[in-house]
Amino acid sequence: MILQRLTNKVAIITGAASGIGRATAKRFAEEGAKLVLNDLHSAALEELLAEIHSPENCAVVSGDVSLESTAAALKETALERFGKIDILVNNAGIHWIQDITETTSEEFDHVINTNLKSMFLNCQSVIPEMLKQENGGVIVNLSSVSGYVGQEMLGKSTFLYNMTKAAILQLTRSLATRYAKDGIRVTCVAPGVTKTNQITTEHTPDLDGFWQAVEAVQPLGRYADPVEIANCILFLASDEASYITGTSLVADGGYLAL
Ligand code: NAD
Repeated sequence: MILQRLTNKVAIITGAASGIGRATAKRFAEEGAKLVLNDLHSAALEELLAEIHSPENCAVVSGDVSLESTAAALKETALERFGKIDILVNNAGIHWIQDITETTSEEFDHVINTNLKSMFLNCQSVIPEMLKQENGGVIVNLSSVSGYVGQEMLGKSTFLYNMTKAAILQLTRSLATRYAKDGIRVTCVAPGVTKTNQITTEHTPDLDGFWQAVEAVQPLGRYADPVEIANCILFLASDEASYITGTSLVADGGYLAL
């Protein structure tokens, strides 16, 4: 019999309709998890259900993850449908390539709310449930190599994205130390460039040129496939990572080692 690593575990995954979140939902389902999947795009979530292992063990909550009402709906759905919450994957996020001199106050709020406030709201919502459980729980946040370096892209600054991803490292450390004694592990994954919809033609008219440039600067000579990042999230969420909390797993093809 093949051992499934998330048998009987209930996981909430935000931003599950695309890229890393989608790959994570599929890997978690293959490993026996029951899932509550969120995204802005409900049609794409329904399409995912058609591809996923055991769709009968999945619930879908579409909505903006930066709203308190979405966090509440995710929690209520998990509890009503599956009776508990073992794992929260705070994955939803947006990229931002724009210099500080061009970024409006409204745009600033939008990126902070999507990438950071969403994590505050979801952690605040699920931690009280995890505290009630004998086995605690696990939170995995999506940071980025951009949280470590003052990266530029295409000659423009990604300062705002970088800020949110650095703050996620500190959110992770702070919640991990606060709740370690309660059996709640809080970790994060910091991917390097991964081929998903996050890198769009909106900001990168020469997409092929972009991916070639990425490959040229990676020590491993290529960008990541979303499933390679999903496997990192799976490891941290599983009991195999039982002694890991407060830290970030960098999966960047060696980029930060340069
Ligand atoms: P993606 O664009 O393929 O997927 C992100 C998903 O989040 C989309 O389905 C989108 O609809 C959803 N989403 C966006 N805003 C939302 C909101 N307000 N409410 C609900 N859902 C929302 O991107 P991805 O690359 O898979 O990104 C996933 C995470 O990984 C993000 O946090 C991103 O910052 C991080 N990351 C990505 C890369 C990369 O190179 N792709 C690198 C490092 C970190």
